[in-house]
Amino acid sequence: MNATAAADAQGDEAAQERTGGCLCGRIRFTTEGPATFPHTCACRDCQKLGGTPVMWWVGFATVSWTGEGGEPTWYETFPGEAKRGFCSRVAAIDSDIPEIGINVTALDDTSGPDLVPIHASFRDNAVHWLPPVPETEHNTAG
Ligand SMILES: [Zn+2]
Ligand SMILES: [Zn+2]
Repeated sequence: MNATAAADAQGDEAAQERTGGCLCGRIRFTTEGPATFPHTCACRDCQKLGGTPVMWWVGFATVSWTGEGGEPTWYETFPGEAKRGFCSRVAAIDSDIPEIGINVTALDDTSGPDLVPIHASFRDNAVHWLPPVPETEHNTAG
């Protein structure tokens, strides 16, 4: 089960632990802390990284890499399609954001209400045939 709003208010650290990993299982991780700034992104880097029109991100203050593959490979910029790393689609680091970004679909349980996007980045670059995520300009759920 996921951390509830009540658990968050009480600062229940254990309830905020989540696990996830890549498709082949080499990269596994455990996150700690509350889910921060869940959002979608349709920038060109995310589209190419994910092989998808939009990616679904959320930040966590602490991420421990627990699988046999260790940390994912970190690319400063997208190096080209021929070198796309299969196991690198789980996370992102932005120099101006303290949390580690986790691709929400890499989490084992994506059902948490605190993971619903509150923002859509690069909305102007999104494909025209996919409707925008509703109410993504709201900062709080409820
Ligand atoms: Zn993998
Ligand atoms: Zn992006």
